[in-house]
Amino acid sequence: MTTEEDSKKGRTVREVAGIAWGLMRGFRLRFVLAIAAMLMATAFRYMVPLVASGTIDFALGSGNGTSRVVDFMERFVVRDWLAGHLWAAGLVMVGLTASAGLFNFFKGKLAAEASDGIARRLKNRLYDHLQRLPMRFHDQAETGDLVQRCTSDVETLRLAISTQVVEVSHALILMGTALPLMFLLDSRMAVASFVLIGPIILFGYFYIKRVRRLFQKFDEAEGKVTAIVQENLTGLRVVRAFRRQDYELEKFSHPNKEYRDLGLRLIRLMAAYWSISDLVALSQNAIVLGLGVHFISQGSLTVGTLFAFIMLLNLVLWPVRQMGRTLTELGKSFVSIGRIQEILEEPEEDRLPVTQAESGRGHIVARDLTFSHGDGQVALQSVSFEARPGETLAILGPSGSGKSTLMHVLLRLYDYQSGSLTYDGVEMKELDRHWCRHQFGTVMQEPFLFSKTIIENIRLGRPSAQEEEVMRVAEMAHIHDTIHRFPARYKTLVGERGVTLSGGQRQRVALARALLREAPVLLLDDALSAVDTETEELIISALKKRHGKMTTLVIAHRLSTLAHADRVIVMDKGRIIQSGTHEELCARGGLYRRLWEIQSRVEGQRTKDEGQRTKVQGLETEVEP
Ligand code: ADP
Ligand code: MG
Repeated sequence: MTTEEDSKKGRTVREVAGIAWGLMRGFRLRFVLAIAAMLMATAFRYMVPLVASGTIDFALGSGNGTSRVVDFMERFVVRDWLAGHLWAAGLVMVGLTASAGLFNFFKGKLAAEASDGIARRLKNRLYDHLQRLPMRFHDQAETGDLVQRCTSDVETLRLAISTQVVEVSHALILMGTALPLMFLLDSRMAVASFVLIGPIILFGYFYIKRVRRLFQKFDEAEGKVTAIVQENLTGLRVVRAFRRQDYELEKFSHPNKEYRDLGLRLIRLMAAYWSISDLVALSQNAIVLGLGVHFISQGSLTVGTLFAFIMLLNLVLWPVRQMGRTLTELGKSFVSIGRIQEILEEPEEDRLPVTQAESGRGHIVARDLTFSHGDGQVALQSVSFEARPGETLAILGPSGSGKSTLMHVLLRLYDYQSGSLTYDGVEMKELDRHWCRHQFGTVMQEPFLFSKTIIENIRLGRPSAQEEEVMRVAEMAHIHDTIHRFPARYKTLVGERGVTLSGGQRQRVALARALLREAPVLLLDDALSAVDTETEELIISALKKRHGKMTTLVIAHRLSTLAHADRVIVMDKGRIIQSGTHEELCARGGLYRRLWEIQSRVEGQRTKDEGQRTKVQGLETEVEP
């Protein structure tokens, strides 16, 4: 077989085998021992038919000539004694079977240890690697696909090592030893025994190869059903709120039916396969039996030898019949190895040696910074600004103008393509990514909380922080009192992605987490958008007290937040279109002033409304007495 023909996704069988062998490092000895144990088990099982054959011919004297087993026994065993003590032969057979079982147990144990160990290590390696891949990779990869590669593809590989490779070796060893043994016993019968074995293997291989596409479809249908359930459960609230239950049910029922239909078709096809295979196997038995009886009546074969042949044949038949199935499963694992290797071959984010002190000053200068996501559309174009240590820089702009992207570039989640971005005077590209990220306390636009307790979530900012420090930042983020109203206080579990908290509470926990870090720079990406205006103002004034201690970049839309910044930059379509202090920008025309006017008008309207309401209340109180 040429290696080119069997290549899966451009990899040759040799390459895949090489990759698999590499993955087995550290477990190879155990694996080889498993095969050795299997060899021992096979040897013991082979002896059973021989002892049976010998006992029939030698001790009971079937009188049909002699066989090699009889010749052998004549030299070592006393015929009359054995005839009188037949139980001894039975005992030997039981002993041999038990030994075979014992070695089989060792085989299973060793193979399982090896494959489980390999799978566990591989999963860890994949997980670790995924943590270190650049954001660009994750932007393009589908989460579901990655999850599948880390779980079911690894599982396919585990099964291949623990089961299929062992089974193929088993079948090969059985055939490799049964054939010479049979020829030793009687060459005519040996040929007869193997007449149909070849066809069984070929039939199995080609049949399963054809059914394989169906197996694949079946797997895909299963994936589809799982994906629908997962999406439905994730979006449960939306489904209920929009009363889409019936629609969702319908959406589910079609793929579910397809899944069942495919399953039934597979079962039918496999039932046909095993029936045909049974027929061939029984025919093989019939050939051996028929020919054997003929030879016995001729006097050229002993009853014991025929008995041995029937037993040996059936020892070999089962694994051989499984072979077609096993080989195709093994083929599946080739695809899985390829998919796993694709992830492992992705280059990790580069790391540079850290030459800076633990903490920088937080001086950021961008000059003509330009960046585009993979799609070629420019997300940042010639962006220039400066944030001096301790300053607060506010960023404003319509959605999609590149504000979050700017934060991501600062965090080195993406590499900027041209222009310069310096931190404390050093080009950021020349600094280690992890060190850079360590300079920022960040609240992302959609803050993510882990399904842990509140205190654990805040402590992510600085795991070594004392409880008092956690409470101090929680107070600054104005979440402390809220937390204290929860029955379990700081030990409250926040649920998956923080669902048990409101949007504003989640943002404030994330803010506490960022503050706890005590990094030189604080990055707030629309971090208070879900917090009510009053609370926001309280938080801003708490942050103002730290003014001068840390550089703050804050993306916001509310004037209350923008007005207190040292400088404001206004972005649109990836460019900075205005910059200056609040007063300067208000004096000049443009987007900022328009926004200011709209918000002031709304604000004015609100105060007017509130005034009227008090007036009405006043009237009522006047009327009442
Ligand atoms: P803002 O935060 O100002 O609302 P973003 O920085 O999130 O805007 O987005 C700026 C532009 O970049 C948008 O046009 C958006 O579609 C695009 N963009 C954002 N993230 C990605 C991404 N991961 N891959 C490709 N394009 C992106
Ligand atoms: Mg954004």
